[in-house]
Amino acid sequence: MTASPPLEHWPLIIIGTGFAGLSLALQRMNDGQEDFIVLEQAQSPGGTWRDNRYPGCACDVPSHLYSLSCAPPWDWQRKYAEAPEIEAYLAHLAHSLGARIRYRAQVRSASWQAREQLWQVELDDGSRLTCRFLVAGVGPLSEPAWPDLPGLENFAGPLLHTARWPRDRDLKGQRVGLIGTGASAIQVGPALAPEAAQLVIFQRTAPWVVARKDHPYATGTRRLLGKLPCLRRAYRAWLYLTRELKGLAFLWPGLMRRIEKGVRRDLAHQVSNPQLRQKIMPRTPMGCKRILLSDTWWSTLELPHVTLETDPIQHIEAAHLVTETGARYALDALVLATGFRYQDNPMARLFKGENGLTLEDFWKAQRSAYLGMMMPSFPNFFLLTGPFSGLGHNSIVFMIECQTRWIQSALAHVAAQGKNEFKVRAQAYATFTEEMNQRSKKTLWMQGCQSWYLDPAGRNTALWPGFSLSYWWRTRHFDAKDFDYA
Ligand code: NAP
Repeated sequence: MTASPPLEHWPLIIIGTGFAGLSLALQRMNDGQEDFIVLEQAQSPGGTWRDNRYPGCACDVPSHLYSLSCAPPWDWQRKYAEAPEIEAYLAHLAHSLGARIRYRAQVRSASWQAREQLWQVELDDGSRLTCRFLVAGVGPLSEPAWPDLPGLENFAGPLLHTARWPRDRDLKGQRVGLIGTGASAIQVGPALAPEAAQLVIFQRTAPWVVARKDHPYATGTRRLLGKLPCLRRAYRAWLYLTRELKGLAFLWPGLMRRIEKGVRRDLAHQVSNPQLRQKIMPRTPMGCKRILLSDTWWSTLELPHVTLETDPIQHIEAAHLVTETGARYALDALVLATGFRYQDNPMARLFKGENGLTLEDFWKAQRSAYLGMMMPSFPNFFLLTGPFSGLGHNSIVFMIECQTRWIQSALAHVAAQGKNEFKVRAQAYATFTEEMNQRSKKTLWMQGCQSWYLDPAGRNTALWPGFSLSYWWRTRHFDAKDFDYA
């Protein structure tokens, strides 16, 4: 009889090479701890910035703020970086981790082994690894949401989801339908319009759009930012604080209403066609969904070959999309900018905690995580950018860095105690969840909009209901009394 090979063991396994996974890996390297590997399902790093490659894809957070403070500076080309530059930045960071990243390593399942106090991680190729601590940086917005539209499967032309855009797909000279008017749509629409013969945009809810004021950095500015670390830090702090101040409007609806008035005025000035103006004037309170940034959305809608259709879609045929009032649009290609499966992200099925309980089952009553990272029944397991740790008004990279620092202090505390296992106490988790629920009730996100922030019961489970500074405050120390140890 041949003995089965010993399982490969690591003190720490990190899953994912997006901002989250790389942030923890680099933080740990900077702290002189090289006891981990990073598993990446694809053959290159980048997470969402590798997968979202639709034309026009860019970030609506300024580049100097949308970067890791624990990593070397990057010579950003423009105020709001485009996806390829962010992907190149992440590839550069990943490069510094060398062989610590294992590519084409797709996690099929990860289960807690109570007796051994270890996580067992199984990969798609059948190989298995174990680790004492497991961190999932798999991204909450990774799985595309396909709309449940009658006949969608009958469409004969290319069906392109923004989150799974094929390389080098050219829609030149084609009649293109675009479903959705969220953050992805307002980027892909203006990028497709110049090359499409016709672009029909199907809008269900009119979004709030404000000017982005994007521009390339002058060579002199880039040189100065490159040479003067204090200037770079001051610029980053200024970008952070101006965004943080915008958070005030989410807490004081009176302030948001004043901003609303300004946007309505801009819209009336900039959009000359009264019928179009009527269609794009939002009917939901500003801020109850993500406020979108664009310098080109409204002007794109005014182009003669672009149509904004607000009649609901009734069904889709092989070459047509038909609306409820009977309008028939002949289309060669259909672009779905319909977002992500956040509330029912299938990744929750991968992780099995105590007694084989999956994260999906654990979250049946409500998606939550202590400080957006930990759940009882899931010892030694951390989620990055988990429930209640998203942001609407500032940089998610700031939240990620708060989390990676907190995880570092948690791991240091457990090691100092000489323990192998720790998990958040059910009471601490319940108190945190209740606090989030109560605070969320006062936010704009729960004032009548449908969005991916809300669960089927209408509760916010996605965003941190406060200033990001208050999240930093809460995560600056590890609160040992909220945990059980073994
Ligand atoms: P989204 O915000 O969820 O928007 C989806 C759009 O599709 C909405 O306009 C929605 O209409 C529409 N839609 C969905 N199902 C539909 C159906 N069955 N029929 C008609 N319309 C339908 O998705 P997203 O634009 O991909 O953005 C998701 C998140 O990704 C953002 O909130 C943001 O966090 C992130 N993101 C960030 C950036 C960035 O620059 N940093 C860029 C892109 C995305 P309703 O509004 O009526 O639901």
